[in-house]
Amino acid sequence: MPPVIDRKKCVKCGYCAQICPLDVIKVIEKEDFKDIVVKYPDECWHCRACEKDCKADAIRIRYPLSHLMLHMEPDREGRK
Ligand code: SF4
Ligand code: SF4
Repeated sequence: MPPVIDRKKCVKCGYCAQICPLDVIKVIEKEDFKDIVVKYPDECWHCRACEKDCKADAIRIRYPLSHLMLHMEPDREGRK
């Protein structure tokens, strides 16, 4: 699941694209046009670096369902 950028809050500083270790977020720049896009959403590993460091508080990470499930290890007798 990709990060979601709130277009109303984003100031297009490009910092999230700089710090993303997997280049999920890209800055598109052409003459007087600049935009921030989530280009490779499937590559996101949910480290939250972009979300935490966005000064405009414009990014939220959507976690896949598998990340939200509670995993319990069985005890020695095999009970959960
Ligand atoms: S760091 Fe935040 S404000 Fe800057 S481009 Fe990314 S989402 Fe937008
Ligand atoms: S959560 Fe981490 S991997 Fe995903 S887009 Fe943000 S910085 Fe990149």
